[in-house]
Amino acid sequence: MKNFTYYRPKTSEEAVGLLDSKWGTAELLAGGTDLLDLQKEYVAQPDKVVGLGGIANLAGIKIENKDVSIGAMTKLADIAEHAELRKLFPALATAAGDIGGPQIRNMGTLGGNLCQRNRCWYFRDEHVHCLLKGGEKCFALDGENRYHAVFTQGHKCVIVNPSTLAPVLIALKAEAAVLGPKANKPRTVSLDKFFHAPSSAVEREHVLAANEIVEKVGIPNVGLKNASYEVRHKQSYDWPLVQAAVAFKLDGSKASDVRIVLGHVSPTPQIAQAAARALEGKEVTEQTAAAAGKAAAEGAKPLAQNGYKLKLIEVAVKRAILTAAGHKKYWEA
Ligand SMILES: Cc1cc2nc3c(=O)[nH]c(=O)nc-3n(C[C@H](O)[C@H](O)[C@H](O)COP(=O)(O)OP(=O)(O)OC[C@H]3O[C@@H](n4cnc5c(N)ncnc54)[C@H](O)[C@@H]3O)c2cc1C
Repeated sequence: MKNFTYYRPKTSEEAVGLLDSKWGTAELLAGGTDLLDLQKEYVAQPDKVVGLGGIANLAGIKIENKDVSIGAMTKLADIAEHAELRKLFPALATAAGDIGGPQIRNMGTLGGNLCQRNRCWYFRDEHVHCLLKGGEKCFALDGENRYHAVFTQGHKCVIVNPSTLAPVLIALKAEAAVLGPKANKPRTVSLDKFFHAPSSAVEREHVLAANEIVEKVGIPNVGLKNASYEVRHKQSYDWPLVQAAVAFKLDGSKASDVRIVLGHVSPTPQIAQAAARALEGKEVTEQTAAAAGKAAAEGAKPLAQNGYKLKLIEVAVKRAILTAAGHKKYWEA
C-alpha cells in the first residue's frame, strides 16, 4: 500500500475542507471495507485519507412521523437489525442483512455502500489499464463478462453498480443530503439521480464531486409496500447476480404508484419503467407480477456470457412484487 497521511476531522465541514477538488489524491474512509482493499490492490493510491469516524452526528437512525433519516456512518448491521425500520422498510432491512457477512455489516456503512467502487475484475486488477483507470478500452466488453451489465446500450464501460441498498432506496424515493465546500448547508440529491455510469478515470459511479460527502439519507414514510429480492450464486459472501427492489401503494389488492428498480444489471441501478407500467392499477396476482417481470427484462442487450441474467430479472421482479404484497412465498416452501 502506498503511504498516506491520515486525518480524523471532528465535523463534516472540516472533512470537506481536507478533500481535494479532483479525484484520486484524497479519499474518505468510512468502514474501510472497500477503500482499504482498493489501496492494498494499488487501485486507489491517495496521499490523504480522511476518516469520518470522529464525526459524531453522522451515525444514527431517526424516525419521526413521515420522515426517516439514516446517517451516512450508520453501520449496515444497525440498518438490518433496527426493528422499527424493518417494519416500515422490509426491503431495506433485507438488503442490508444480505450484504457480505457479519464482519462486513459491522464495519460497512450506508455512505460507503452507496459510494463503493464497482467489482469488475478488470478494474480491480492493478495490472489492467481499463477505461476507469485512464486506459483506452473496456476489457469486459469482449472478455470475461458473466457478471457484467445486460443493459449495455450507450455504455463504454459495462460494470454493474455494486450497491444493493441503492435500488431499494431509489424505489422508496429516498434523497441524500450532500455537503460540499461552497454551500454552508447540504444540497439534496434524489437517489434516482445519485448514480452515474463512469467511462473514465475522472468519474465515479456517483455524481458527487471529489470534495463532497454524503451526510445522511432521508426516506419518506408514506406507507408504500416494499420488498427486495436477490438472486445469488451462493448464499454467502458475494454480490447478487440480479436484484429487484419494488415499492407501491396497495389499495385492497390493487397496486399504484409502482416503482421497480433492478440492481446488478447495468452501470447504474436500472429503473424499470415498463415493468412499473405493467403493474400500475392492476391487482397483484402471480400473473400480473410475472408480466411485470417479463417487461423488466425487455430492452436488455446482454453480452456474450450473461444472457442468463434475463430470466433472473423476470423471477426476481415477480418474487419481489409478490413478497411486497404479502403473498405466500411458494418458492420457500
Ligand atoms: C465479501 C464482501 C461481500 C459484499 N457483498 C455486498 C453485497 O452483497 N451488496 C453490497 O451492496 N455490498 C456488498 N459488499 C460491499 C460492502 O457493502 C461495502 O464494502 C461497504 O458497504 C462499504 O462501506 P464502508 O463504510 O466500509 O466504505 P469504505 O470502504 O470506507 O468507503 C467506500 C467508498 O465510499 C466512499 N465514502 C464512504 N463514506 C462516504 C460518505 N459519507 N460520503 C462520500 N463518500 C463516502 C469512500 O471514499 C470510498 O471511496 C461486500 C463486501 C465484501 C468485502
